[in-house]
Amino acid sequence: MVRPIRKAAVIGAGVMGASIAAHLANAGISVLLLDLAPQDDGKSATNVATLTKKRSRNYLVEQAIAKLKKQKPAPLASKQALHLIEAGNLEDDFDKLKETDWIIEAIIENLEAKTQLLAKIDEVRAPGAIVSSNTSGISVEAMSQERSLDFKAHFLGTHFFNPPRYLKLLEVIPTKETKTEVTEFMREFAETALGKGVVEAKDTPNFIANRIGTYGLLVTVDEMLKANASIGEIDSVTGPLIGRPKSATFRTLDVVGLDTFLHVAKNVYEETEGTEKAMFDPPAFMKEMAKRGWIGAKSGQGFYLKE
Ligand code: NAD
Repeated sequence: MVRPIRKAAVIGAGVMGASIAAHLANAGISVLLLDLAPQDDGKSATNVATLTKKRSRNYLVEQAIAKLKKQKPAPLASKQALHLIEAGNLEDDFDKLKETDWIIEAIIENLEAKTQLLAKIDEVRAPGAIVSSNTSGISVEAMSQERSLDFKAHFLGTHFFNPPRYLKLLEVIPTKETKTEVTEFMREFAETALGKGVVEAKDTPNFIANRIGTYGLLVTVDEMLKANASIGEIDSVTGPLIGRPKSATFRTLDVVGLDTFLHVAKNVYEETEGTEKAMFDPPAFMKEMAKRGWIGAKSGQGFYLKE
């Protein structure tokens, strides 16, 4: 049995989670948006910033919703849609997941973190509710292998592309244990209710689009280094000048988040053998940027200064 989707939940209110919640709300679906509760670990008592600024338990989600309200460059959610998004945190509001028909996991790209979260979701999800992961390329089967049979039957990957409001592609990734009825339901629902173009992908590292995209991007960076070209030059020839106004190489990386990109490259690096493997090892300068926290728009510094 699959429950009709009246209320959804998105866990992780980062770059993707917040904009997936906005996309669902724009389609008229109520959404519970959850993220971590800010930690008061005692160490913060020495931190002037936390002493002077008391943060609400829903701080991360509230911040994400505030970004959705910004009208520039384009509003991500209409005013009416914003009313459909309920903010919460994973400690106080976890039980509310019982009331939802579709739970989307959109936390950091880390197998252990995702596996742990899915175990907790398994304890509260309503019978027949679908659970999906927005992973960019971690094995969907690996993150759910310890779960109950009923959970696995209702679990699959739903890989949205950034930004979900404008990019129509949705990769749907069933495992061997996902019920066909669930995969079919998700395809139909995504196409009709969310306006998506659905492609069913196998549960292989980075699925389809990111496998090609990661490879293309790393080849471009490799060629840039060999040719001693600049970031601006590469963006010119991979972006507006070639008729792709939004998809220049480094501007895209700033939107995606370099931390996320490096996780995605690592997934495929670890799963690849032979001569192809080296191509998925990002150059040292990218790793160094990530170490410094220069990970793109979300940190205020990436390949370009935040505009
Ligand atoms: P992000 O870093 O912007 O956001 C991650 C959010 O998860 C943060 O708000 C963080 O507080 C929260 N979080 C971290 N650890 C957590 C935990 N243990 N439990 C609960 N919440 C936790 O990341 P993102 O770019 O939104 O990516 C989220 C997922 O979507 C990843 O799996 C990523 O690979 C995938 N994805 C990203 C993009 C992209 O362009 N950025 C595109 C498609 C898919």
